[in-house]
Amino acid sequence: MPHRPYIVGNWKMNGSRAMLSEARAIDRAAGRYPDVQVALAPPFTLIGALREAVTAMGVGGQDCHVNAKGAHTGDVSAPMLVDTGADFVIVGHSERRKDHGESDAVIRAKAEAALAAGLGIIVCVGETLDERDAGKAEAVVSGQVDGSLPQGDAAAEAVAGGKVAVAYEPVWAIGTGRVAEVADVVAMHAAIRERLLALYGEAGAKVRILYGGSVNAGNAADLLAAEGVGGALVGGASLTAEAFLPIVAAA
Ligand code: PGA
Repeated sequence: MPHRPYIVGNWKMNGSRAMLSEARAIDRAAGRYPDVQVALAPPFTLIGALREAVTAMGVGGQDCHVNAKGAHTGDVSAPMLVDTGADFVIVGHSERRKDHGESDAVIRAKAEAALAAGLGIIVCVGETLDERDAGKAEAVVSGQVDGSLPQGDAAAEAVAGGKVAVAYEPVWAIGTGRVAEVADVVAMHAAIRERLLALYGEAGAKVRILYGGSVNAGNAADLLAAEGVGGALVGGASLTAEAFLPIVAAA
């Protein structure tokens, strides 16, 4: 693996202050694995408290608005995430693409807003089961990479600085317990890398490509050892230290 593996927990709409003890346990262990970059993305409500509670790991948001401020009731901007202690944000998760109708263009604007605020980004891509069954998985994911990754000078600088990651998360593998075949993950990561090199030139090699979708203690070692897999984006198995730490250890 050319980069330090990046293991990110996505708490989605889960978590309360009582769960900060889990985060502290994860953080203590993260301190024992300096060769692994560990991070958690809790709901907005916990970012500030989590930042205060941990020292070794990264803290991020799960979404941000395209604008920095203004009349957008219920939304949170990238500068606000920075202000509350986040150092990265996930954009384009399939649950946001589906539940909030986020298009590639919107996701790209969010990615660019996050970089402008100084955040690192994880841009999510992934095909549905229908798209895979129709033999379109690679075309769909390549199109998402082309459409949702940030463009422009700030993006080139962020890519060169290692602040941009892509998470390949087949929609049918998220929260289903059904994990993609390692060979399919390797093939898709290679296709994504090809698009990244086309978008950013040589610097495209610096973008870490994470796999996500039902990653757990049992399958993490095989997935993380696979060619081109630079880490994991973990949902359900990131909610407790007991479930998450074996994944960090596997990296
Ligand atoms: P899961 O979620 O690990 O629960 O499948 C992954 C994700 O959606 O990031």
